[in-house]
Amino acid sequence: MELLKKRILQDGRCFEGGILKVDSFINHQMDPGLMKAVAVEFVRRFASRPANKIMTIEASGIAPAIMVGFLLDLPVVFAKKKSPKTMRNALTTTVHSFTKDRDYEICISRDFLTPDDRILFIDDFLAHGNAAVGAMELIGQAGAALEGMGFIIEKAFQGGSDRLQAMGVRVESLAVIESLDDCIIRFRE
Ligand code: 5GP
Repeated sequence: MELLKKRILQDGRCFEGGILKVDSFINHQMDPGLMKAVAVEFVRRFASRPANKIMTIEASGIAPAIMVGFLLDLPVVFAKKKSPKTMRNALTTTVHSFTKDRDYEICISRDFLTPDDRILFIDDFLAHGNAAVGAMELIGQAGAALEGMGFIIEKAFQGGSDRLQAMGVRVESLAVIESLDDCIIRFRE
């Protein structure tokens, strides 16, 4: 997606250890116009997939997920990173965070992830794929079906996409970064 790649080159900041900061337009301050364009592209790419619910993980996935849900007129549910005391029937799993180098729990209520759900999962980044595999774990526990996974930015050099595709998942990433070596952003052509 050219508009997105241009914006990443213009405003993205690269850090040691293969981390890209996009907090001026995606995951801290947000550009709604760009987010809408991102959602339109996800809708186009997943047009043949009969999803009936959008799922993400808090917090950075919520903005693109709700835009997709709005365009498709579908409900949006996000996995929480802290289990509220009031949550009944929680499905939970553990995810390892690459950026924070620690494990955390994600949970979702069985009330909002059910065997009737056909899920389109949307998130900001795909790196090693740990968050995505955690989401798949919750989807599996619920007996729901996964229609596909869409990511705004994929860091291909961290292998998440290969891992998900080996598990039979349809993956769509709107900007695929081949390398961040020497803090230079190089996209896959
Ligand atoms: P994974 O679980 O695929 O290794 O990492 C995905 C999650 O880690 C994303 O939801 C995102 O929040 C975070 N993440 C991974 N790499 C980056 C990065 O380079 N920049 C930012 N801002 N977040 C990242």
